[in-house]
Amino acid sequence: METSNPTPDAYPPGNLFGKQDQMPIQRIKALAGVPILYDREPDSNYGHTGYPLRPYVDAKFAVAADRAFQEMFLSLAAAGVGEVTSILTGGISRSGGGVGYHERKRAFDLDGLVFSDGQTWVANSFNTRRFEYLIIEAHLRRAFGTVLTYGYDQRFEDHIHFDNGDPIGFRKHSKSRTLFLQNALRYLFDQELECDGTYGPETQQAERAVRAELNLGALSIRDNWDHFLTASIEALEERLSMPAIVKAFS
Ligand SMILES: [Zn+2]
Repeated sequence: METSNPTPDAYPPGNLFGKQDQMPIQRIKALAGVPILYDREPDSNYGHTGYPLRPYVDAKFAVAADRAFQEMFLSLAAAGVGEVTSILTGGISRSGGGVGYHERKRAFDLDGLVFSDGQTWVANSFNTRRFEYLIIEAHLRRAFGTVLTYGYDQRFEDHIHFDNGDPIGFRKHSKSRTLFLQNALRYLFDQELECDGTYGPETQQAERAVRAELNLGALSIRDNWDHFLTASIEALEERLSMPAIVKAFS
């Protein structure tokens, strides 16, 4: 086993706490032109609706999030899932002098998406709507280094947390990144392996087979990781646009 003790990626290395990475803060009313709704007050709003937020966020984070959601929404439309009309969040920026990325206005908790036909995608549905979950996650991974999801730990069973505290790219010792890799290998590229977030020989073998098929070098190189994510998104669009197959896998 290459690593039986994956490092948590929820917190940044200490050397990122300096003032040199402070960016201007701006107030946003939408991302990719879509309003952001806070869906945790009351709790029964979770996954359905909420009240509009106009959060203050770090400028660089806002640009990355805007682009990620734009591309995600194009993908969801292309896959026939629908047109997104609201983004549901359980929290973005927090006040106070804490050292977490929410306090630094560089993090977002994604609870769900509302579509123009009234349907919703909710972040607690990984086991029943895996392809929607993975296509949303893949787009976030193209734009953000830290993406914490279902299966990472219990805190992330009802939302996807993302922030820009960590560089974009694949690392074997990152549990969250390995979990995505394993899910993609298993559900998109039909490799048989356990999805436990630990990068071992089984994962390595499956990864090599799929990289050979995609003609890709090591995923630790950012371009290759991005190509792997793009190939995953293409596979997801294809599977999502074939309802019979989605059903068979869910
Ligand atoms: Zn969070």
